[in-house]
Amino acid sequence: MVSASSVVWRESPDYEQARIGRVFNNRRPERYPRGVVQPTTAEEVADAVKLANQLGLRVSVRSGGHSWAAWSVRDDALLIDLGELKCLELNEAPGILKASPSTTGCGFLLQGGMGWNCKNWGWACEKVLAVEVVTADGDILLCSKDQNCDLFWAARGAGPGFPAIVTAFHLKVRNSFSNVMKSTFIWPLEQYKTVLDWTIDIAPRCDDSVEVVCLSLRPDPVKQPVILACFVAFQNSKDDAIASLKLANETFPPGAIMTSMCTPSSLSIEYEAQKLANPEGHRYTSDNAYIRNDTDAAEVLRDAFTTLPEETKTFALWYSMNPCSRRELPDMALSMQSDHYFALYTVWEDEKDDERCTSWVKSVMKDVEKHSVGAYLGDSDFQIRRTRFWEDTKAEKLMQLRQKWDPRGTVCGFLDQGDKSGVNGLENKHEWRT
Ligand SMILES: Cc1cc2nc3c(=O)[nH]c(=O)nc-3n(C[C@H](O)[C@H](O)[C@H](O)COP(=O)(O)OP(=O)(O)OC[C@H]3O[C@@H](n4cnc5c(N)ncnc54)[C@H](O)[C@@H]3O)c2cc1C
Repeated sequence: MVSASSVVWRESPDYEQARIGRVFNNRRPERYPRGVVQPTTAEEVADAVKLANQLGLRVSVRSGGHSWAAWSVRDDALLIDLGELKCLELNEAPGILKASPSTTGCGFLLQGGMGWNCKNWGWACEKVLAVEVVTADGDILLCSKDQNCDLFWAARGAGPGFPAIVTAFHLKVRNSFSNVMKSTFIWPLEQYKTVLDWTIDIAPRCDDSVEVVCLSLRPDPVKQPVILACFVAFQNSKDDAIASLKLANETFPPGAIMTSMCTPSSLSIEYEAQKLANPEGHRYTSDNAYIRNDTDAAEVLRDAFTTLPEETKTFALWYSMNPCSRRELPDMALSMQSDHYFALYTVWEDEKDDERCTSWVKSVMKDVEKHSVGAYLGDSDFQIRRTRFWEDTKAEKLMQLRQKWDPRGTVCGFLDQGDKSGVNGLENKHEWRT
C-alpha cells in the first residue's frame, strides 16, 4: 500500500538519491519533484497516482532512468520510480515475455525502440502484444489490439507523451541466434566521404542478418578522429555469418588503418562495447535526425562527422534503416523514419565543457535539420529543439488521445522548454525550418 508516509518528500535526507540516483546522465537537472515513491506492484502505482490526484500534483515516471534529458525529473511532481517494480516471466510455448518497464532496454519501447538489427528485424515496439497500464485516474487496464486499443496504439511511439503509466509489457520473443560475427574497419577521418558513401551503398545489399553502422570518434589513446564502419551478422552458423559479411569484406575502400574481419562476437560482447561507448558517470547531450532519402547524406553529415569536439568521448553515428524504412509500418503512433538515422552522442566529464559541447550540437543540428524529415524521440531533447517526430495525422491523433485519457494533465508529458506543453503535447514542427 502506497500512502503519503511511503513518499520520500523533498525535506527527507534520502531525497537527493531518490531524485537523481538512477538517472544515467551525470548532467543533473535543476528540477525538483515534490516527492518520490517507489511502488513494487501495479496496485501501488495506482495508489500513488490517486495520492497525487488528491494532493493536486502531476506524476512523472522513471523506468530505466536512461532518458538523456532526464525526463523523469519534473518540478513539483510526484515522481513514480518503477525501479523496484520487477517482473520477468517467459511463457515459452507461445514465446511471450512479460517484462516490467524498468527491465533495462524496455522503457525505450514506448518511443519505438531501436534494438539490435533494427533495419531488418523492425522496431522493438512491433513486438509489443499488450501493455498493462495505470491510467491518470488510477485505474488498472490491459491494452491490446482488442481492448483499449487506442492506448495500445499510443504505447508504440508516444514516448514520454504516453498519457498513462505502463506497469508491464507483453512481448513476442524472437528465436535466438548462435553465431554473431562482425567485421570492423577504421580509416583516417580524411576518408570520411568515401567511407560513408560506401557504407550507405552496400548496407541495403547486405543480407537481412546484418546490422550496419558508421561512426566517427576519437579513440583512446591517440584521440585522433577516425571513421569506422562496422557490420554485425546475427546468424546461426559460422559459415552463414562469414557469407553474410562477404560483401563488406570484399568491397571496403582502400586506406584502412585497421581491419578486423569475421571476428566472433555475441550479444553480451556487443552490450559491453555499447557500455564502453556510453560510460556511466559522464555528462551527455544527444540529438538526432532522419536524413531525407533523396539527399547526399554523407555531404549533409560532413560537419557532424568531421568537427567532433576535442578532448571528449563524443561520437557521430549513421545507422542504416533500409529496408525497414521502406516498408509500411503497422498502424501505431511510431511513424517517422528514413533510410539514414543520424545521431550525435556528445560525451564529456567536466561541467566547464557544458557550453562548448551543447553549442556544438546546436550548430551542427541547425544545418542538418534542413535535410531531415524528422527525428527519433529516444535521442531527443525537446527543451532544446522541437522537430517532427510522427507523421502529421498520427501526431494529431496522439495529441487527441492525450486529451482523452489525461484531460487534467496528471501524467507529465513531453518536457519542452519551461515544461509548458502539458495536455496539448508537442507541435510536431521543425525548430528552424517550416
Ligand atoms: C546508454 C544509453 C543507451 C541507449 N541506447 C538506445 C538504443 O540502443 N536504442 C534506443 O532506441 N534508445 C536507446 N537509448 C535511449 C533510451 O531508450 C531512451 O532515453 C528511453 O527514454 C529510456 O527509457 P527509460 O525507461 O530508461 O527512461 P526513463 O528516464 O526512466 O524515462 C523517460 C521517460 O519515459 C516515460 N516513461 C518511462 N517509463 C514509463 C512507463 N513505465 N510508463 C509511462 N511512461 C514512461 C516517462 O515520460 C519518463 O520520464 C539509450 C540511452 C542510453 C542512456
